[in-house]
Amino acid sequence: MCLPEVIAIDGPSASGKSTIGHMLAQALGYLFLDTGSMYRAVTLAALQANIDVMDETAVTQLARQIDIDIQPPGNMQDGRLYTVLLNGKDVTWELRSPAVDTHVSLISSYPGVREEMVLHQRQYGQRGHVVMVGRDIGTVVMPDAPLKLYITASPAERARRRWLDRQKQGHNTDYETILADVLRRDEIDSNRKHSPLRPAEDAILIDTTQKPAETILQEILELAHTHCR
Ligand code: C5P
Repeated sequence: MCLPEVIAIDGPSASGKSTIGHMLAQALGYLFLDTGSMYRAVTLAALQANIDVMDETAVTQLARQIDIDIQPPGNMQDGRLYTVLLNGKDVTWELRSPAVDTHVSLISSYPGVREEMVLHQRQYGQRGHVVMVGRDIGTVVMPDAPLKLYITASPAERARRRWLDRQKQGHNTDYETILADVLRRDEIDSNRKHSPLRPAEDAILIDTTQKPAETILQEILELAHTHCR
């Protein structure tokens, strides 16, 4: 049976790409690498160090110094899909806070920060057997990936999903605020100069607005068998 060594998944926030990417990785026995968590870790590190998020030089320097490690969830039973260690400390849930949401798109627009994260991401990619999820995986990080997917959903549906996540985590943010944040991040991610969010030319588009994740997973597994090298 032939399978792609790397599966690249891109798409806007809360499009379902992490849920589906994780299910896919589980089904194939692959590593699941959510690259958004790396940009979130840089953002959290900057907030914790009281670095001005507008200070590109200081944030970039910080991105080069910190140690980010992404591991399988092990026996943690709190709904996490993976564990993120920032300088050895488990920050998996702190990465999901509204403060990180607010600043992550600015920080990930800094070319020096991206350069550093892409280096790490390619190292994971070279080892193979990985499902890598982000905004620029098919276009920049792993342009030779045999299977590239671009996963979307309507902004209203994405905001509804993020609102549900927030509720589960005990953050009482209202739906309208979340919708505005989703739209604002789409705008920044799609219009930034470096590695903007967009589908690779050879990416397969999947809309998750009205389709159950299980159905999409089966479709992707079929694609995996015909997109391998
Ligand atoms: O996917 P998630 O919402 O966790 O990503 C957080 C932010 O990180 C995105 O809004 C985007 O600004 C940035 N990001 C990126 N490139 C990636 C993954 C995430 O710029 N490959």
